[in-house]
Amino acid sequence: MNEYDSNRIYDLSKKLNYIKTDNVEDTDCYVLNTCHIREKATEKVYHDIGRVKKEFRNKKKPIVIVTGCVAQAEGEVLLEKEKYIDAVIGPQSYHLLEKIIKNIEKKFKKINITEFDVIDKFDNLNLIKNSSTNISSFLTIQEGCDKFCKFCVVPYTRGPEFSRSINELLNECIDLANNGAKEITLLGQNVNAFNYCGIKLSDLIYEISKIKNIQRIRYTTSHPIDFSKDLIDAHANIKKLMPLIHLPVQSGSNKILNKMNRKHTVEYYIDLIRKLKKVNPLTRFSSDFIIGYPGETDQDFEDSLHLLNEIEFINSFSFIYSSRAGTPAAKLEQVDENIAKKRLVIFQKRANEIKMRYRKKLFNKPAKVLFENKAKDNNKYFGRDEYFNSVIVKSDQNLIGQIKEVKILNGNQNTLFGEMKQKIKNKEFAA
Ligand code: SF4
Repeated sequence: MNEYDSNRIYDLSKKLNYIKTDNVEDTDCYVLNTCHIREKATEKVYHDIGRVKKEFRNKKKPIVIVTGCVAQAEGEVLLEKEKYIDAVIGPQSYHLLEKIIKNIEKKFKKINITEFDVIDKFDNLNLIKNSSTNISSFLTIQEGCDKFCKFCVVPYTRGPEFSRSINELLNECIDLANNGAKEITLLGQNVNAFNYCGIKLSDLIYEISKIKNIQRIRYTTSHPIDFSKDLIDAHANIKKLMPLIHLPVQSGSNKILNKMNRKHTVEYYIDLIRKLKKVNPLTRFSSDFIIGYPGETDQDFEDSLHLLNEIEFINSFSFIYSSRAGTPAAKLEQVDENIAKKRLVIFQKRANEIKMRYRKKLFNKPAKVLFENKAKDNNKYFGRDEYFNSVIVKSDQNLIGQIKEVKILNGNQNTLFGEMKQKIKNKEFAA
């Protein structure tokens, strides 16, 4: 979502004739868009601003703005601690960027805008064309969260759940398609909680699937509790909807799920996966796990390993629990760091074995790949298969923007390597 936001921030700044630069030393206005999910996010902000300060020690100071969730969470503290920062803008207020930059240019006082007015934000963004179209493009459809998992800052930094209007989403999507997008990933902190005046995520996906140039649709990130029957059915009925579902579970222990306030049990989660597999047996899953959450015993950890083995996630993203100031879990007694580290090593080793076993089954088999770009050397093209696996093939033909059937030859944890299928070379496939 930050990538989508960063692109929109750039669209806004273009109104003031700013252009992007890859070189910090050329900067007139430095906007640092931050994420609070990662560990030590605030320290990283000070570190980054320190680098800019160093670069401009003997030069005219650029305008320095911090946006995103760290800006929201820290607000005034950032301005107090680091005088080099001119403004902090929360993720729901960045549509005011133009006004803010003008004010800073006129040397007004430091600015802190951390309101939760998402309606105003999207009303303003609708007036500006989304110019950042890629073959695979993002579209934010929903923001915020009402779930209040005890470890998570999102409800405090992004605010309550908000869904954008279906008309503005379809218009933005048509624009993206007209500009070359072939795949749309619908984004939301709780994407399957999308509900605009009774129009649900499944309805939106049906509508987007009617846009001719859009050949693939994905969405992320889902909460198991919001997986309604209509969305399950959409996976049976919409061919353009890709068969990989990212479904964070966080723990395989009911005791820990309860402590996290995840609002469902392991049994519910397994049953949901069973239902999704029933409507489309080719569906695969990826997930997030927190290791060493406060109160996690050896048995709870074993339960997470058990779930990992049972579902055989093709990708598992696992992190040691790290507390976030202001969240209820931050007040709980922490698991010993060494124990948590040992558990993470065991977990990731097992997750990687499962992933590699799955990947080896793909070798010498066909895969439909949407090609997104070309590597600098040797006519190598990069794309993704239906399960979001990165695939690289060599081709003399320009493959960008096309879905091709490829034979997977081999691969590693990160990338699959394939070749164009000879006998049906040049034949394009619908997703
Ligand atoms: S559902 Fe996701 S975004 Fe919402 S509080 Fe839980 S972890 Fe955070």
